[in-house]
Amino acid sequence: MKFKVCCCWDDGVVNDIRLVEMLRKHGAKATFNLNPGLMPPEIRGVPSWVPPGPGSWSFRGFSNGKLSLRDIPEIYDGFELASHCWKHESAGTMPDSDWIRTAMDARKFIEDIVQRPCRGFAYPNGRFTPGAMAELRKAGFAYGRTTKNVDDFLSENSDPMALAANCHYLNNNKFWKDYEAARSRGRVFYFWGHSYEMMEYDRLWQFMDDTFRHIAEDPDAEWITVEEAASMLPHPVAPANP
Ligand SMILES: [Zn+2]
Repeated sequence: MKFKVCCCWDDGVVNDIRLVEMLRKHGAKATFNLNPGLMPPEIRGVPSWVPPGPGSWSFRGFSNGKLSLRDIPEIYDGFELASHCWKHESAGTMPDSDWIRTAMDARKFIEDIVQRPCRGFAYPNGRFTPGAMAELRKAGFAYGRTTKNVDDFLSENSDPMALAANCHYLNNNKFWKDYEAARSRGRVFYFWGHSYEMMEYDRLWQFMDDTFRHIAEDPDAEWITVEEAASMLPHPVAPANP
């Protein structure tokens, strides 16, 4: 029996252009979690080595630009898109009723621009609360991805609104251990990350390329989307008690 592999990538950054080329080359599926309120309307090819200024966002000194809103349909053509809130708003930092609006605004924007349903969600900064989970469920989201890790995706995820992946893609030890375990059980392996974490280091991009090649050459592996993975959870949880 084939086992299923899925992955997702957060924040809609310029490095996603290089990543989607790699995914396409290896026939891999992926879900991209976007916050349209932080993506500029028209700029294409934002320089990726902008020196980080005071208060500006960067990763280890690497300031990756955001893709523009206009780029979304072309860059992510064929990939699943999910809400990551309008401007990366963390759950618990505002009333739940305001927070869910930011999740829905991103979802509606994505649905309008690509003309496909968008039912996936990833919690900005990995922060989630019982109230946020309840709001996502009420709004009809299929899942809410956290930054928690599990060893066995199907048996350890009891609530799709607090969905845990197996690991971050740079967690090499857990990555292949869980991959092999999912493979032998015929189950699901799910990893996630940010393409900006590869910065412009060819060695990291090569590592990613090798990973996708390994999966592509595995006759037992089959790519699915994160929404498909969430739909395989055996025990959908009933709405929380009031
Ligand atoms: Zn994020």
